[in-house]
Amino acid sequence: MFATRFAPSPTGYLHLGHAFSAWTAFDAAQDATGRFILRIEDTDVTRCRSEFEAAIYEDLAWLGLTWESPVRRQSDHMADYEAALERLKALGVLYRCFRTRKELMESIASAPHDFSGPEKVAPLPAAEEAQLLETGKPYAWRLSLVRSAEILGADWETLGFEANGVWVKANPAQLGDIVLARKEFPSSYHLASVLDDASQGITHVIRGEDLAEAAHIHVVLQRLLGLPTPIYRHHRLILDADGKRFAKRNQSVTLRSLRESGTSPIEIRTSLGL
Ligand code: GLU
Repeated sequence: MFATRFAPSPTGYLHLGHAFSAWTAFDAAQDATGRFILRIEDTDVTRCRSEFEAAIYEDLAWLGLTWESPVRRQSDHMADYEAALERLKALGVLYRCFRTRKELMESIASAPHDFSGPEKVAPLPAAEEAQLLETGKPYAWRLSLVRSAEILGADWETLGFEANGVWVKANPAQLGDIVLARKEFPSSYHLASVLDDASQGITHVIRGEDLAEAAHIHVVLQRLLGLPTPIYRHHRLILDADGKRFAKRNQSVTLRSLRESGTSPIEIRTSLGL
């Protein structure tokens, strides 16, 4: 059965871009007489807040959306993500990366909306790694694409997915060896999202085109973990007057400020071209 989801992170109030994304997924589910699932992606405990989660429910209900309950909250399932991480470790596709916390925080915490090319990283020589481990320096786990290719063998060459109606050959190298976990973040967005899409039976992932690159790595994780690959639809982004993607810090276009200023959901829908 057709099943899609809207998966916001409660790090701020929802804005017009979220409304567009949520409606696009919701409408697709309605058209297919399928399921619409709301998922709270709150693995980043440093940035997620319960008041924003409460606001998500309120704002989406105001837009007229309905969703299945209970809503899956990723922070309730950290053990599942850690178990998957252990499986990947056992496969030998992960390696330790000792780059600083600040550098890593930027690359792991959230979905890569502002993706800026692959990072130059590689496993350290064993002796150097052992030395760093001894000093107690914190590290992150990265997914080695070289090792993934070795493990998947012939499958690696055929790796791909359907996006916006066409077959796309996976090019995971454009993201490089992504960070999948570190001490304070037992799961990256990538790992949690891929696992949840599978466990929730998502057949169609509908989200903004700023996450189109992420699909190239998600298909690698799916293949390594023996999970099905959903069909992807990456929709256009709603841009502000300067042609920039709406950011959560831009208060003027939050759904609640529009509501307070008397704008109706139908006016918002029309303005979004839906
Ligand atoms: N949680 C992500 C976000 O806030 C959405 C990721 C996805 O739809 O795959 O944008």
